[in-house]
Amino acid sequence: MTKNIIVAGSINIDLVYAVPHIVKEGETIHSTKHDLFFGGKGANQAVTAGQLGADVKFVGSVGADDHGIRAKENMERKGVNTEAISSQGATGQAIIQLSDVGENSIVLFPGANFLVTPEQIKESKGIFETSDILLLQLEIPIEAVEQAAKLAYENGTKIILNPAPARDIPNSLLQKVSILTPNETELELLTGIAADSEENLRKACHVMLEKGVNAVVVTLGSKGAFYMTSEESGFVAAQVAEAVDTTGAGDSFNGALAVALCHEDSLIEAITYATIVAAFVVTRMGAQPDIPKEFIR
Ligand code: ADP
Repeated sequence: MTKNIIVAGSINIDLVYAVPHIVKEGETIHSTKHDLFFGGKGANQAVTAGQLGADVKFVGSVGADDHGIRAKENMERKGVNTEAISSQGATGQAIIQLSDVGENSIVLFPGANFLVTPEQIKESKGIFETSDILLLQLEIPIEAVEQAAKLAYENGTKIILNPAPARDIPNSLLQKVSILTPNETELELLTGIAADSEENLRKACHVMLEKGVNAVVVTLGSKGAFYMTSEESGFVAAQVAEAVDTTGAGDSFNGALAVALCHEDSLIEAITYATIVAAFVVTRMGAQPDIPKEFIR
């Protein structure tokens, strides 16, 4: 049976420029190569879930411009329903300089993502009633995130919150969350505890459980993930991968986690599947690579 996932979140176009060095104040330099990648944490999560066979609906905004049209077409091609995506302002952009020695610098223009309102979310109330899981991140206004969580919670829909980019989160939102999926940096910002040892990692997860989330899954890059609920906890190792671009690793992890949980996998099974999918994604350029059919659930 096809499973329904809603993603409420961000859509960006990533414009990547290869440069000899990161441009300095007042300087003009030439870029030797330019790439356009589809991005935005919300879109990255959605296209992962769409490609893995879930029925995915997206609530968010792109600009009334060419980038917006292309971003939506890309999402549709990868199995995401874009009917609840509005067009307003300019499409969100990340302008990325990538130097010869691998340094980068990013200018993030949130554009239409910051124009998503609680009212727009409410207009999509109908799709919250038919969904198994809501996936959230923090690249749209927090009021819009809270509204989406409220609708899902009222319908008994499971909520996965990827607290990225890192910021404070109201307790009223955390209390609605089934699974919180920070990376180490985000966990530290939320708890004030650096996860520099297993003991501190456990302490930090406890803090989040006490704030009301049902489970914490901390992604640890090439070290895999750590999970904790009130009943169980442990590590799931990453799959060995020849990483070429880890952009969006966490996003694909979240998308895959949602798909597995829709299929009623246990938390450990779902994390294991998510680490397999994320390990594939890091072997390709960009945050939204084509995912082979063998990964479909
Ligand atoms: P984020 O992108 O949010 O910082 P992480 O870097 O923690 O997230 O990566 C998310 C997941 O992607 C990890 O839990 C792991 O499963 C997988 N992953 C990330 N980097 C690698 C890597 N180099 N090799 C294999 N898997 C990786």
